[in-house]
Amino acid sequence: MEKELREYTVLTHAEYEEGIKEGKLLGLRCASCERITCHPMPVCQWCGGRSLERTELSGEGELTTFTVIRVPPEGFEDDVPYIPCLVKTKEGPCVVGRLDYDAERASQVLISKQVKMSGAYTHKGDKFSGGTHTCPVFVVVE
Ligand SMILES: [Zn+2]
Repeated sequence: MEKELREYTVLTHAEYEEGIKEGKLLGLRCASCERITCHPMPVCQWCGGRSLERTELSGEGELTTFTVIRVPPEGFEDDVPYIPCLVKTKEGPCVVGRLDYDAERASQVLISKQVKMSGAYTHKGDKFSGGTHTCPVFVVVE
């Protein structure tokens, strides 16, 4: 099973995170249905197809939802307040990231606003997350 997964992993999660650090939102294009999968998976998130090739997304999309974290989970004490968000990319898949926005001004009005990737955020993690992880940061396009 592990060998089989490696065989089909065109883009690892580590490579996805490295791409974010370089300002690129990487995903996978499916040869069967032409749709884009992101975050990386061994199979197409839409049709389960295994013929995938690496592609770069625009980093643009629509803010689907967000929340403001003021009481941090362990390991995130230095981050508060911060805004985890879900972005529906122009290419289709939804991506988890952080929203770069004033937490005191963040309200429901932001939902469905156009956003674009503006950088990367790496958190040091906690005892549950097994080390550092990097996610895309998005800003609202006025
Ligand atoms: Zn597909």
